[in-house]
Amino acid sequence: MKSTSNGRVKVHRFMPSGRCIWTMIGKEAEHWMAPSFNYCSCPAYYYNPNVQCYHLKCASKEEFIDYVDFSDDEFDGFISALLSDTLKRQSTSLPDV
Ligand SMILES: [Zn+2]
Repeated sequence: MKSTSNGRVKVHRFMPSGRCIWTMIGKEAEHWMAPSFNYCSCPAYYYNPNVQCYHLKCASKEEFIDYVDFSDDEFDGFISALLSDTLKRQSTSLPDV
């Protein structure tokens, strides 16, 4: 078992439904990814969604991926924590236009 999570993609797998949430610890925060939509919550993606960011590149390589299993009961709490974290960060880094 490898214990380091830095530089690795984490796939949170919710059972028994099999839903997967992808995240990767970045320099400052944990980024949320949806590789099937080619989406990542990091600033690099935000400013240039046409270029595959570092996290999505890692997510396409099996050797960078760790799978962590959860129960479906934990899904709602996990999502709301992840979203509030992501939105909080984006709203503080976005310019007021
Ligand atoms: Zn990214």
